[in-house]
Amino acid sequence: MVTHLAYKIATLGSHSALQILKGAKDEGFETIVVATPDRVSLYNRFRFIDKILEIPTFSDFSKIEKKLIAEKAIIIPHGSFVAYLGLDQQKKMKALYFGNKAVLDWESDRLKQREWLEKAKVPVPRRFSKGDRIDAPVLVKTYGAAGGEGYFFAKNKQEYKQKIKNFKGKKFLIQEYVIGVSAYVHYFYSPLTKKLEILSIDRRYESNVDSLGRIPSHNQQGLGIEPSFVVVGNSPLVLRESLLANAFEMGERTIEASKKIMPRGLWGPFCLEAIITPKQEFFVIEISCRIVAGTNLFINGSPYSALYWDKDVSTGRRIAMEIKAAIKTKSLDKILN
Ligand code: AMP
Ligand code: AMP
Repeated sequence: MVTHLAYKIATLGSHSALQILKGAKDEGFETIVVATPDRVSLYNRFRFIDKILEIPTFSDFSKIEKKLIAEKAIIIPHGSFVAYLGLDQQKKMKALYFGNKAVLDWESDRLKQREWLEKAKVPVPRRFSKGDRIDAPVLVKTYGAAGGEGYFFAKNKQEYKQKIKNFKGKKFLIQEYVIGVSAYVHYFYSPLTKKLEILSIDRRYESNVDSLGRIPSHNQQGLGIEPSFVVVGNSPLVLRESLLANAFEMGERTIEASKKIMPRGLWGPFCLEAIITPKQEFFVIEISCRIVAGTNLFINGSPYSALYWDKDVSTGRRIAMEIKAAIKTKSLDKILN
């Protein structure tokens, strides 16, 4: 009989690797991290990591793929895969891979993301296809910008026209700036049970926008401070309970719509990144179709994961639980790509 011990769990050494591998070990898997030389000493510190495979740079990943295949390692993608490996290399991976690679094309294109969310009837901020139409504060986002770097804020059409001059030649998107509280909802969809769980929620801490309120506006005048959105960390959040039903339904509709736009749809961890207005409306600014870094707050479980499980379940551990259940029921084909 094949037990789950025949498989190992592996990931790239960065982002949420510690959470993923700790969760895998808690579920009884052997674990592997693929790391660059500068990170080996970090990963050596933790007993739940059984093996470190060293590569000179992250882009050398394909060179150790044969080893991972020989080890029957299941790769868990996270936020660094696209950032460091790139879309093509991720798509070409031959090792066992948790999740649906078909989501990558939808996720990496801002307009396709929007189309998906609109199909799911998930509210998104208004988009201005032309600068002339701007009638509200906007955020201008370049394509491929990570972590809010390379964005600019304009309070009206005039300011937009002034600032866009520096953006010549770049591809960008103009979005209404939604004023409210950010809430990043961490979901997990199980293709085995066909159930959606909310495992945790965070809010990002972004510099300098999250600190501007510390200086009264009259003191800011004349300083020429521009808001920026560079993520520096995350803090936990629990939602007002009456908002939770909405959060679940948005997640469910996202899964339903995914099944219509790509073969097999989305499964595993994903995150809807929302801003909630004073009218308690959610506006989703982005979907991440993988484990997000904000889940690192919840290595010991969260107030939400405790509602489903009588043990400490992080998103990393939940992934390992799904893999274990799939091995036991001989349905790995439902969760791997
Ligand atoms: P790092 O592991 O810090 O090199 O980051 C890898 C990728 O994950 C980059 O694309 C980052 O922008 C993203 N990332 C890292 N930490 C966070 C975080 N706390 N919140 C959101 N994104 C993050
Ligand atoms: P993103 O790269 O799309 O995740 O955006 C980075 C950050 O910019 C978010 O975490 C928000 O703080 C902010 N942001 C992005 N889009 C909007 C928006 N439409 N309204 C308000 N804030 C936004």
